[in-house]
This record gives sequence, C-alpha cells and structure tokens, in this order.
Amino acid sequence: MRSGCCLYAHRVSRIAAVPPALGRLALKIILAVLERREFVNSPLTEAGAKLATVGALMIGLPLSQGRVERVDGLIVCRGLPKWAYARGGTCVGSVYLTGNVVSDRVLRHERVHVDQWKKYGLLFPILYWLAGSDPLKNHFEIEAGLEDGGYVRRSAR
Ligand SMILES: [Zn+2]
Repeated sequence: MRSGCCLYAHRVSRIAAVPPALGRLALKIILAVLERREFVNSPLTEAGAKLATVGALMIGLPLSQGRVERVDGLIVCRGLPKWAYARGGTCVGSVYLTGNVVSDRVLRHERVHVDQWKKYGLLFPILYWLAGSDPLKNHFEIEAGLEDGGYVRRSAR
C-alpha cells in the first residue's frame, strides 16, 4: 500500500513536469542560496507555515468525517474525501489530511514534512515540485523517510 504523502505539488507536477534532473539541479542551487541567506527557519517561513496550517484547517475541519486529533504537534484530519489529499494523505503546514492512512510510522513521516514546512514556509510547495513527482528521488520524501511514508518496503531488521 502506498501511503502518506504529501503535497498538492505532487498533483501539479503531473501537469507541469520539470525534467527531473533539471528540477533537482535547480532545487540544489535554490536550497544552497536559501541556507546562505538565513531564510530557512526564519520568522517569515514560520509565518508561512502557520498560514498553510490555517488554510488546511479550512479544508480539513469542515470536510472531516472522522476523528480530528492533535498528535505530537500534528493535527490529523481523517475521513476526508479523496480529492482533498494526494496519495495516502497530504501534509499542509501542521495539518495531515487523509482518508484513513494513519499509523505511528506515517505520522512520524508527516511530522518531518511539518518541519519542512516550518523551514521553507510557503516556498515549500514550489521546492517540493522541483524535487520531482517520483517519491523515491524526491529530496523531501527521502528526508521524511521512504519506509515510514510507505514508498518502500520495510527492510528486515
Ligand atoms: Zn511524504
């Protein structure tokens, strides 16, 4: 089962696909510039993440047919119609919008996306789009954990 992930940018990337290698190169350059300019994890990006959270709650709260709960800094909205999220679920700001793909592993994955939202603010969807639609090569999915996100099988331990 393919579960949690993450951004509406995933859908956009299907419509407007950047050649993967070009997108990843652009992403690398942009991330380097953002880090150097101390843009990341700034009050501006935190404000962007909060704005995204408010927007996601405006979708998640009225549409949720299931339990809405706060789990370790993540607001989980279940029972949403399929059009309201991508793949198994979508993380927008601090809100995880899903049908019912919820497990400790998936939530751990989504919490990394929450941190990514805080780090890059409203630039995050654009950066995610540049990282490409293939989760196995997407910088942000790899950082969040491909196994936890359900993109690769758990390795035997
Ligand atoms: Zn993800």
